Amino acid sequence: MARLTARTRRLAMAAVSVLALAATIPGCVAMATEDPRSPEHRQDGKRNAMQSPSSAQSRSPSATAPAAPGRVSDSITHESETPGKAVNLTIDDGPEPIWTLKVLEVLKKYDAKATFCIIGSRAKEYPELVKKVVAAGHRLCDHSVDHNTAMDKRSEPYQQQQILDARKMILDAAGRDARVFYYRAPGGAFTPYSREVAASHGMRPLGWNVDTHDWTNPGVQRIVDAVHRDLHEGPTILFHDGGGNRSQTAAALDQILPWLRSQGYAFGYPKV
Ligand SMILES: [Zn+2]
Repeated sequence: MARLTARTRRLAMAAVSVLALAATIPGCVAMATEDPRSPEHRQDGKRNAMQSPSSAQSRSPSATAPAAPGRVSDSITHESETPGKAVNLTIDDGPEPIWTLKVLEVLKKYDAKATFCIIGSRAKEYPELVKKVVAAGHRLCDHSVDHNTAMDKRSEPYQQQQILDARKMILDAAGRDARVFYYRAPGGAFTPYSREVAASHGMRPLGWNVDTHDWTNPGVQRIVDAVHRDLHEGPTILFHDGGGNRSQTAAALDQILPWLRSQGYAFGYPKV
């Protein structure tokens, strides 16, 4: 039995290596559009919220390094810090020159605030876009350096590097006064360890409730419909400004934002 288990584990590790390689290839998010079960679309943002916080204790990096000031909870947040009827718009995988600007334009049109989950390597490439996001009053979220959606299968040092290097890249781009409020694992690939690393650096793990699947370019109406249909699940809605042509996202937001307003929703931020 033990032998079988070890063999199974080796096979699993081999599969994971292949997945990890694929996930680090730029544009792989868009390439995975045919598979609804792709890691980018796992509901880990929800599932991990159910994990016991105690599972993080034994592997906590804070056992060797003191917690930084401003430590936050390591449980995955979904609710809005805005009281009453509110949504949290979250925009992932940027910044990208055309689509981040387009999304910022639509948000401004409806005076809506959002949380941008930024890929570290892209922040380094487009620091002026990160500055624009902050200047418009939106919040920043660490979305790792390389957007490896299998990073939950990688070593703890790798996970730590992906999270903390991205935080530094985002802050270098945004300016010294900026704050990175959240950490969202690429594809929701959180681990107890990665949540602890983020929390100990003041970044609350961030999940989602409504997945619009906008990154698969399903058509503007389907993105709009997903919000109408699934908003009862909770306030945090997932969109993308990176990973490909996001014209459908921008057009959908142009319908969704006034609809949300008409329904009495405020645009808030996730609870830190
Ligand atoms: Zn992402």
